[in-house]
Amino acid sequence: MRNKSGNEERRSAMKTALVCGAGGFIGGHLVEFLKGRDYWVRGADIKEHEFRDPSADDFALLDLRELSDCRQALAPPDGKPFDEVYQLAADMGGMGFIHAAETEIMRHNVLININMIHAAAEAKCPRYFYSSSVCIYRDMKPGEPEMTEDEAYPALPHNEYGWEKLYSERVVGAYGRRHGLKTRIARFQNCYGPYGTWTGGREKAPAAMCRKVAEVDGDEGEIDVWGNGTAIRSYTYVDDMVDGIYRLMQSDLEGPANIGNPEYVSVDELVEVVAGTAGKAIHIKHIDGPVGVLSRNFSNDKIYQTGWRAQFPLVEGIKRTYPWIEEQVRAAKTAKSV
Ligand code: NAD
Repeated sequence: MRNKSGNEERRSAMKTALVCGAGGFIGGHLVEFLKGRDYWVRGADIKEHEFRDPSADDFALLDLRELSDCRQALAPPDGKPFDEVYQLAADMGGMGFIHAAETEIMRHNVLININMIHAAAEAKCPRYFYSSSVCIYRDMKPGEPEMTEDEAYPALPHNEYGWEKLYSERVVGAYGRRHGLKTRIARFQNCYGPYGTWTGGREKAPAAMCRKVAEVDGDEGEIDVWGNGTAIRSYTYVDDMVDGIYRLMQSDLEGPANIGNPEYVSVDELVEVVAGTAGKAIHIKHIDGPVGVLSRNFSNDKIYQTGWRAQFPLVEGIKRTYPWIEEQVRAAKTAKSV
């Protein structure tokens, strides 16, 4: 465990949070957000953050598939349980990874989720957040009316990642009822922003499109896009997501809540926004590849009860994301050439 010295005495006077998955994209941003609100924060992850050193008060390198490691993550230095536990650790990635790694996703994530909630109940943590996904919903057709949280049932998730998330939602709910934990569950739409995976096969569509456009030399070029480019999605900028997570955690809202930017665009429109930000003329070549569901359209009425609203339209979020990915692409090119 890596401690930042001098923080231990201050801890007893502060609100405390454990962020699982702090070495990852959303978890890393959440650590920064909570530190900005004067929390004492422990991060836990199986790896260090790839792109920055989040300012957690301590950081524990642990394999949360193991119950003993979950107990270690939750063990407070002063005997007082964490006020808030945020569970964002998962073996996950974009559509390519979701299709290629079904068994890893189902096994690893179930183990993480059953062991974390069990250990949190043992440790008598009062509040527990679980990061689910809109992948728990069935496929939709373009133009269908908004789906509410209850319409997840009868269940027909499009992929095994969604089934695992749905099962884990139910485990978290059951532990909450049995042990009196206040559990809060968010179903995230696709989230993007800087300091997230941008290459290697686990990246999601916005990061992949930013990378492909950044890799185009000069002002004009062609990029490959999986499918016919018409799949509809909403993309939520990470600062909005973290704000939604926090508001949900502080709220009295029981049961899962969708969190997503209500702006829906096709994959081709996403590329257009990225190309516009980059100032490049981009031609799209549609190729075969895993696309996922046809369409998405979810109600945010529940999370709106917390006062949450998406503050970053896609254009604004991409303006904050593209330069960071462009910088990574440039650095990778330079490293290759030396
Ligand atoms: P991420 O991959 O960047 O972060 C997940 C972190 O979990 C990684 O740092 C990883 O090392 C860690 N982890 C994996 N296995 C572990 C283990 N055995 N022990 C400890 N840590 C382990 O992903 P993210 O985008 O930050 O997603 C966070 C959560 O939000 C996940 O539960 C994900 O399923 C969910 N979610 C994300 C999106 C999105 O668009 N990013 C959408 C829907 C749901």
